[in-house]
Amino acid sequence: MTAQLIDGNALSKQLRTDVSARVTALKARGITPGLAVILVGDNPASQVYVRNKVKACEDTGMHSVLETWPVTMTEAELLARVDAMNRDPSIHGILVQLPLPAHMNAQRVIEAISPEKDVDGFHIASAGALMTGLPGFWPCTPYGCMKMLESIGYELKGKHAVVIGRSNIVGKPMAMMLLQQNATVTICHSATKDLKAMTLQADVIVAAVGKRNVLTADMVKPGAVVLDVGMNRNDEGKLCGDVDFASVKEVAGWITPVPGGVGPMTITMLMVNTLESAERRAA
Ligand code: NAP
Repeated sequence: MTAQLIDGNALSKQLRTDVSARVTALKARGITPGLAVILVGDNPASQVYVRNKVKACEDTGMHSVLETWPVTMTEAELLARVDAMNRDPSIHGILVQLPLPAHMNAQRVIEAISPEKDVDGFHIASAGALMTGLPGFWPCTPYGCMKMLESIGYELKGKHAVVIGRSNIVGKPMAMMLLQQNATVTICHSATKDLKAMTLQADVIVAAVGKRNVLTADMVKPGAVVLDVGMNRNDEGKLCGDVDFASVKEVAGWITPVPGGVGPMTITMLMVNTLESAERRAA
């Protein structure tokens, strides 16, 4: 069996077309959705990420502000910038690019973002809203995974989903979203004793670990849906996921590639969250 691909680039394009149309409609009412991106330091990967986010704003017709600050910036200075963005009516979403330099407390900075503008969905109020099923911003990467499942018309009710990884930005919110759609959810992590025994029971597997080949073909039930969140480098320095794609695609029913899978969906969902923040304000 050869799995069908869930193409994150194609789905992103489709979703961004819808975002652009809704941005145009808001602009006609005098509101331009705006995203503020704050980068501290000169981490090259972070520089690429923030550039891509700003470009996505441009492509969808949104307003964006990119602030780059030297690594010597103090936490108090950063908190003052966040506060200014909280009060700026042209800004509907605020994103502080992580990781922050070691002298800053990232959680304290995230908590300073107004929950109404927390388009990354990392604020404790956003996490609480997701946990309790209240409206709020969902973290972009797991939200993108949910959109991928929706795009293939996958019915989660009664299915067994196994999430590998329990970070606050991917694994845990992913599990909550799957649970909200009535899947039975198992969360695995580094202390899980027999990962294969868990994944073999899964109708849906989400791999969010950050290690190559965490999931191999012998660990996958035939026909399962496999979503690969991982971003790693292979021996040739090429981007790859957590899943042994070549072997797993022979067993799975659906699979996301890396690159071109979950990655593009993350920025797309950031655009969706920013747009929805502006729409809420306009309502
Ligand atoms: P993280 O904070 O490092 O969390 C990794 C998780 O994997 C932890 O919960 C860890 O368990 C678990 N783990 C580690 N080794 C394991 C093993 N052998 N078996 C089972 N579980 C294991 O990472 P993250 O931020 O969630 O990101 C995960 C991956 O997704 C990374 O490759 C990251 O680059 C990628 N990512 C991609 C996107 C995207 O847009 N595509 C966005 C975000 C992240 P413990 O909790 O026990 O340590």
